[in-house]
Amino acid sequence: MKTIGMLGGMSWESTASYYKAINQGVKSKLGGHHSAKICLYSVDFAEIEILQHEGNWDQTAVILSKAAQSLEAGGADFLMICTNTMHKVADEIQANISIPLLHIADATASKLVAEGINKVGLLGTRFTMEQDFYKNRITERFGVDVIVPNEDDRTLVHSVIYEELCQGIINPKSKEQYLTIVKNLFDQGAQAVILGCTEIALLINQKDTSVPLYDTTEIHAERAVILALTD
Ligand code: GLU
Repeated sequence: MKTIGMLGGMSWESTASYYKAINQGVKSKLGGHHSAKICLYSVDFAEIEILQHEGNWDQTAVILSKAAQSLEAGGADFLMICTNTMHKVADEIQANISIPLLHIADATASKLVAEGINKVGLLGTRFTMEQDFYKNRITERFGVDVIVPNEDDRTLVHSVIYEELCQGIINPKSKEQYLTIVKNLFDQGAQAVILGCTEIALLINQKDTSVPLYDTTEIHAERAVILALTD
């Protein structure tokens, strides 16, 4: 079994979901007392979050590259960055390590393509919904069209992520608002919606809606398990 390098803490609420999903995945494949071999580097999210909102992505890349190097030195065979947003600096991180990176958007888009989805809605932080690093990768490499909520809805989705979900707050009103936004995206032609922030599944899940949801945490964790167990 390969050792999975998890670059987490962004936020730790979602890293906990990853940790559980990966261990459950290994157990369901191997049974018994099997569990995943994991090296975890969990950052202080406050440092990262300030830099994000200042637009100082270069400094986030420095911090996360150092963390990734520690994971490599600690024996990780491949790296996963346990947040969609910080894939903005995925290329910089990859350039500083020699183990491969399991990219969250590639894992998600491969599943969309395999399931015949060619137009998808995207929920995530403002950075993920509005900048090109994520949407363009899905469209250019996988041929899937990506639509995002309108300006007001993006503001709401973003603030619920930082003010509530990353702080472990689950608010029923936010849940209703998210579900309305999901429905709007579906009405605009999205065949499915990507939960493109690793905390969103703490708020809504497939039981809440008939619109197909693609939870990036679950998909990324699933791919990591397959990769860890493949020679
Ligand atoms: N975990 C979130 C994501 O998947 C947001 C926190 C962050 O900015 O890293 O984008």
